[in-house]
Amino acid sequence: MVLRNLDQPHFSWAVSCTNSARWIQSKYTLACASRLYGSPPKSAKAPLPTSYILSRCLKRRPEMTLLERDDEAPSSWKGTLPITSRYTYGLAGERFFRALKDEGKILASYCPKCDHTYVPAVTFCERCFSELTEWHDAGLVGKLHTYTLMFVDFEGQPLEEPELVGFISFGDGGLIHKIDANPDELEIGLPMQAVLKPQNERNGSILDILYFQPVRK
Ligand SMILES: [Zn+2]
Repeated sequence: MVLRNLDQPHFSWAVSCTNSARWIQSKYTLACASRLYGSPPKSAKAPLPTSYILSRCLKRRPEMTLLERDDEAPSSWKGTLPITSRYTYGLAGERFFRALKDEGKILASYCPKCDHTYVPAVTFCERCFSELTEWHDAGLVGKLHTYTLMFVDFEGQPLEEPELVGFISFGDGGLIHKIDANPDELEIGLPMQAVLKPQNERNGSILDILYFQPVRK
């Protein structure tokens, strides 16, 4: 509510104050605040509390609207922001990738209400929101739904050798993965076999599947 009185740089700054309490307490921010509001009072020892900076923001230009800009306001700050993060697969992903790693299985989950088979397996049906408790092994052979031959990488750089990538369908879902084959032998609907890394090299990643290849009799 009160933030609507701030101009844009103040606004984003105030939001970042709120979101990054730790960051704002760095001496770097203290320097920014000094530039905006003059030296902090002697009683305000570094690091400046967020509440102090916000209160100065609000006092400074209470009449300002969002469309106005303060020419003196800094538009950017240089500095480093230490961030650590850990990606987790979640409940369904944990079970799916553990099965792939330990048992070499691709797991599916089934919604009897919607008669829909999810691959990769999920915990809840995205159609009816039911919890899915029927999990089963989908096998390692799916069907080629579509494919493409790539001549450039994700950054647009030419590849030394073109790479085949395809969507292999399992149940009502499927996996996008590399394909090891001659493009001439591929056709839509072709049964495709997942080739896995040896068990002792698998680490619970989608890359535990090396590639898919046509089922060769
Ligand atoms: Zn459902």
